[in-house]
Amino acid sequence: SSLLSGELIGDEEKKENIIRPRLLEDFQGQEKLKENLSIYIQAARERGEPLDHVFLSGPPGLGKTTLAGIMANELGVESRVTSAPALDKPKDLAGLLTTISPRTVFFIDEIHRLKPAIEEMLYIAMEDYELDWIIGQGPSARTIRIPVPPFTLVGATTKPGRVSSPLYTRFGITVRLEFYSPEELQSIIERSADLMEIRIKKEASAQLSRCSRGTPRVANRILRRMRDFAQVQGDGTVTTSIVKSSLERLEIDKYGLEKLDREILNTIITKYSGGPVGAETLAISVGEGIDSLEDFYEPYLIQQGFIKRTNRGRVATALAYNHLGLDRSDNENQ
Ligand code: ATP
Repeated sequence: SSLLSGELIGDEEKKENIIRPRLLEDFQGQEKLKENLSIYIQAARERGEPLDHVFLSGPPGLGKTTLAGIMANELGVESRVTSAPALDKPKDLAGLLTTISPRTVFFIDEIHRLKPAIEEMLYIAMEDYELDWIIGQGPSARTIRIPVPPFTLVGATTKPGRVSSPLYTRFGITVRLEFYSPEELQSIIERSADLMEIRIKKEASAQLSRCSRGTPRVANRILRRMRDFAQVQGDGTVTTSIVKSSLERLEIDKYGLEKLDREILNTIITKYSGGPVGAETLAISVGEGIDSLEDFYEPYLIQQGFIKRTNRGRVATALAYNHLGLDRSDNENQ
């Protein structure tokens, strides 16, 4: 399966917990964001108030869930985690909000997927710490307001553009997580290696940091695979030669592109004359879901300059042609 797929199973979940940073100081990179957050957190703590609601956006695996956990820890409060698709009925939201302790950090993942009825309940909860609750049916139905403890909503999304503006404007703090630099990723890799007792050479971690798609989750996953290769094929230490041969086996190239990334580029160029091609058509052509194409694959391909997003669809850039060793003039002459 892809290094990017979201679900963690069993053993991997446990290992993830060892390396997940608990405090702001353990969270690598994103310096400006950390500085601001630590001020907001300190201020809220001193006033004994909940932190303002926080909106987190950015591609998957950059640490949104991790950050929510850190905020709760630093505030010294409880955290509750759910996702929009799990909030199906008003009672699902009410059940959670009426049982939290004051100032809880309430994390909702995929906040762009809330149902309208739930979203409207949330507006009032965010603003007044109350829930609108309908009792009775038909003509005798009436609405009562139920108080809930003051809380901090942390809403996370990979698709900020799909969040309605009434919801968006109710967040006091908005944070956009960007891809990490190779230097930041290297310190994440070295920290994780330390915690998992993996020996890794400095040049090897530098090399890995450049092909981890700017994404901590990917970096940690590749690191675990490197450990396997080092253990079986080497003396247990992750060296540059282990990295090189293992990346080849995993079909990850020096830009961190996976097989499917190259397939996407190749499809745009050879099947659609370099583009533009619509995201849906492209997803079908490479046999991938539209969400995974838009959330996982495209953002990195765009950031690295392999494709461009135009309003008529996706276009391959000169860099994409070069990378695949294809001739651009073949398409331009058509
Ligand atoms: P999703 O949006 O899919 O929930 P996410 O963006 O919330 O993903 P996390 O699950 O929080 O990502 O992070 C993925 C892994 O990467 C975590 O296990 C964490 O250990 C690691 N990680 C993320 N950001 C950092 C960081 N800044 N420093 C150190 N480790 C990090």
